Amino acid sequence: MAVISVVTIAVSVVIRQAYLTQLIFSLGTVACWLAWHANERPFNAGFAVLLVGLSMFLIVASEWMSRAFSEMVETSLERAAMSKDLASLSDSLKTRNLQLQDARRQLAEQATIDEMTGLRNRRGVNIIINDELARMKRLQLPIALIALDVDHFKTYNDTYGHPAGDLVLQRISTVMLEMTSRAGEFAARMGGEEFVIFYPAANRSTALEVAEELRRRIVELDIPHEKSLTAPHITISIGVVSCVPDWELEFDVLLKASDDALYLSKTNGRNRITFGEVNVPEES
Ligand code: GH3
Ligand code: MG
Ligand code: MG
Repeated sequence: MAVISVVTIAVSVVIRQAYLTQLIFSLGTVACWLAWHANERPFNAGFAVLLVGLSMFLIVASEWMSRAFSEMVETSLERAAMSKDLASLSDSLKTRNLQLQDARRQLAEQATIDEMTGLRNRRGVNIIINDELARMKRLQLPIALIALDVDHFKTYNDTYGHPAGDLVLQRISTVMLEMTSRAGEFAARMGGEEFVIFYPAANRSTALEVAEELRRRIVELDIPHEKSLTAPHITISIGVVSCVPDWELEFDVLLKASDDALYLSKTNGRNRITFGEVNVPEES
């Protein structure tokens, strides 16, 4: 565009110079001749003045057209530059938009995952549990919820320090993640040192087997806890519930039942599993 404009202007300037030279040379010569022979014919002087006037008009008109032409070229050059700027602006806006979408997705993901353990947090559970429950309600398959709590964890922190306590929670979480690899299963940190594992399509005996495997695997980590009143190593207490969900069953009811069962494990000596009944609250 720039090259075309430069060439066009150069050509128009050259043509204009040629045009003016031609105009002044031809009309000027005729006007001079007429003025020189003004006395020979009656209208020679008048024609001479007319030709000079015509020449001046043509010169002014050519000047005006040349200016209009330059302005037109300048405007189209500016327009081309502006549309180029606009295109690059819209490109950078698109990139920015994509980056924003990415950041938003990451934020939403982080908000559902517990940063320290990599397990789902309570919000992460809320997001998926209703769909999973609805699926099992449709299929009329049993579900199991396993609640667990680290035994004498406060004493552990007091003895070995909070960072060491964090490591314990991370190691327990790794075991839970390994035990929830199939579709629909998940492990979550509900807060502090309290966790749950959800198993779709798991009846009472499967749930109890899995809970026992979990309890055993945590014992086998053999993390020393010399001040524990239960064992010389880290242990967990577990509460298990399992039932075929009816249409009214809500996750909070399961959670409460598994928590009650867990409480019994605590009061009965810790490092153990208690199976609890799910009591659907009476409608008022
Ligand atoms: P119990 O056997 O009855 O469960 O006793 P406990 O000491 O484990 O239970 P308690 O509720 O008295 O204490 C829980 C402790 O868990 C206290 C708190 O400092 C610790 N805790 C909670 N969250 C974290 C965490 O993210 N990191 C660490 N290191 N400790 C945590
Ligand atoms: Mg505890
Ligand atoms: Mg606790």
